[in-house]
Amino acid sequence: MTIGEILHTGKVRRLHAVPGHPDRLLVVATDRISAFDHILAPDIPDKGEILTQLSIWWFSQLSDLVPNHLVSADVPSHVAGRAMLTERLRMIPVECVARGYLTGSGWAEYQRTQSVCGVPLPAGLQDGSKLPTPIFTPAIKAELGEHDENVDFDTIAALHGRDIANRLRDITLALYSRAERTARERGIILADTKFEFGMRDDGTIVLADEVLTPDSSRFWDAAAWRPGGAQPSFDKQFVRDWLAHESGWDPATDDPPPLPPEVVSATRARYIDAYERLVGAPFVRRAADARAGTGDDSPRVVVDVMPRADALDPQGRAVTSALQRVGFDGLTVRQGKRFEIEVAGDVTTERLDEIRAAADRVLANAATEVYDVHVVP
Ligand code: ATP
Ligand code: MG
Repeated sequence: MTIGEILHTGKVRRLHAVPGHPDRLLVVATDRISAFDHILAPDIPDKGEILTQLSIWWFSQLSDLVPNHLVSADVPSHVAGRAMLTERLRMIPVECVARGYLTGSGWAEYQRTQSVCGVPLPAGLQDGSKLPTPIFTPAIKAELGEHDENVDFDTIAALHGRDIANRLRDITLALYSRAERTARERGIILADTKFEFGMRDDGTIVLADEVLTPDSSRFWDAAAWRPGGAQPSFDKQFVRDWLAHESGWDPATDDPPPLPPEVVSATRARYIDAYERLVGAPFVRRAADARAGTGDDSPRVVVDVMPRADALDPQGRAVTSALQRVGFDGLTVRQGKRFEIEVAGDVTTERLDEIRAAADRVLANAATEVYDVHVVP
């Protein structure tokens, strides 16, 4: 198969057409991470792959409850692992949220009304409390840049008919309860999650989008759960803590500063931990291997960043001494990093210059690092 034009670009994912298959879509997850409503730099390596693999695993866990849009994970090699071939559906524009715990916009609404999306709740709940039973709290997508708007069940019924609204609620709660139990058995609290559904031409409701990833859900570490305040998020806590307390970032005036390597690697480790705990198997990166020998020749641009010869390289030194400790003498390691950039269309001289400018500004720290931009077929 080949990848067609981009139909939609979200903050983190892209949708492509599939030439010759008008009834299919290719959903590609990038490694971008967002926090406090900003896209951050640099990327979290492998995040797109980890979340795509997690979604695919959940689809298989839930397929007896409702059909899903996944057609195949066999995708062109340069997006291997991070993309899904799906049915192209008529999306039902409702964010189908299920909550088993009270937090976020639900907690804010509860404090004003003692209810969430029209569902009355008992008095005395705290931020992070477990709800007596899980609830369906739909939202409607707001205009770009705005937060989604929580609405009550009757609003969904008025917009889409009572039958569809009932089905969306019942499926959402069934999916949540299965997933919550699965996560709980693995030491993770699924506080809430959002599903999106689409319709086939024959009216069948199909589970679409990504499912039960840290980007669409709140996962909490069950061992650290203490109602009465914001719970640490399983995946992004390092990023949030660093931005809020250590980076010196003033959200009122600036864009967030680039994440330091230790925050990037700690965050990546958390994504992998979440994946491995849930799936119960090691995360195996497919990207590089999958590309080899497949005849795929769409170009990628690679930016290799290395510490300058005279710059401190604590990671490289740590690896060097670790090697010495286990008997590999005489190997001096310097540790760099590699960014792979997918370019839609041809790699022109202008494009390369643009990537060099990006490397200069964001990917490398010019004071301590050198970089090299090249094209890999
Ligand atoms: P945000 O970055 O805030 O999430 P977004 O929702 O526009 O913004 P994405 O989530 O990346 O960005 O976009 C994915 C889009 O694809 C959504 O609009 C979703 O409804 C749509 N979608 C997902 N699965 C399908 C499908 N099977 N058929 C058609 N559209 C789909
Ligand atoms: Mg979305």
